[in-house]
Amino acid sequence: MKVLVTGGAGYIGSVCVEELLGTGHEVVVWDNLSEGHRSAVHPRAAFLQGDLADRDLLFRAALEHRPEAVIHFAGKALVPESMRDPSTYYRVNVSGGINLLDAMVQSGCRKIIFSSTCATYGIPEKVPMDESTPQKPINPYGHSKLVFEQILAWYAQIHGIIPTCLRYFNASGASAERGEHHRVETHLIPNVLLTALGQRPQVDIFGDKHATPDGTCIRDYIHVRDLASAHILALQRDKPGAFNVGTGNGHSVQQVVEAAKKVTQKNIPVRMQPARAGDPPALVAAANKLQRELGWKPVHSSLEEILTSAWCWHQTHPRGYSD
Ligand code: UDP
Repeated sequence: MKVLVTGGAGYIGSVCVEELLGTGHEVVVWDNLSEGHRSAVHPRAAFLQGDLADRDLLFRAALEHRPEAVIHFAGKALVPESMRDPSTYYRVNVSGGINLLDAMVQSGCRKIIFSSTCATYGIPEKVPMDESTPQKPINPYGHSKLVFEQILAWYAQIHGIIPTCLRYFNASGASAERGEHHRVETHLIPNVLLTALGQRPQVDIFGDKHATPDGTCIRDYIHVRDLASAHILALQRDKPGAFNVGTGNGHSVQQVVEAAKKVTQKNIPVRMQPARAGDPPALVAAANKLQRELGWKPVHSSLEEILTSAWCWHQTHPRGYSD
């Protein structure tokens, strides 16, 4: 299939492009390089530098390339930033997404795989949580993604768009060549590994009084290659749907730090900090629907493989993509 991948120069997008090309698809990457890196884009993918706000350019690109499907990764994805600057989250994740949908309608492309998030659920009443969990986001990031899920449902009804919403839990790990490098790193696993590499003095742990067994937040870490494989399976779908993408296993911040000490054989100092605004205490997926309906299986997502693959990438790319 010819696939347009927005955000294909970013962390998850670039690994997905690698897997798409590996399974015989043709790829056109669209990215404004605000978070992505040009060198993360696989050399066999076509590359268009553009912003989702640029409606005319988006329309021209869709008409020229005529993709059969879109995988829509581009977007803002940081909870704390969204609590400071909601406007950007709605402009990029909602308005930018609408431009993309309109370009799809105009060029006759119907399938879209959308990067949604478990943050659309807010604080769930029970974990693990399945797709029927009420969506009550507690931060603008989660809300912007939920709004776009709802817009997709209307475009499905009115324009015959076929959306698959993949609600990611915590993407992590690396392929041999592509890993996680944000210009300002806020994510737990890279921060832990950059501390092990000696690039940071310590890891800040945001809150140790959450309602969890050790008081630190629990997340469901899913290997980025397993996440990528869910997108490739979703390309085969011909009806709308929403799926959680996680492992069903949760790990606390403390557990991640302890496991990273074992994998890296390094001392990783920690410092307790107040809880971060907008952080739910525990998010763990029930992802049986994805396994049942798409035959998906996480095969790289043990915490050990996640940390080992990410550690390997950080050691071989100590400055990320800046080398
Ligand atoms: N976290 C932390 N220290 C860090 C980064 C994150 O304690 O340096 C915590 C954060 O509060 C959350 C979990 O680790 O509970 C995962 O955070 P991350 O930013 O990686 O992903 P999120 O779940 O926010 O999408």
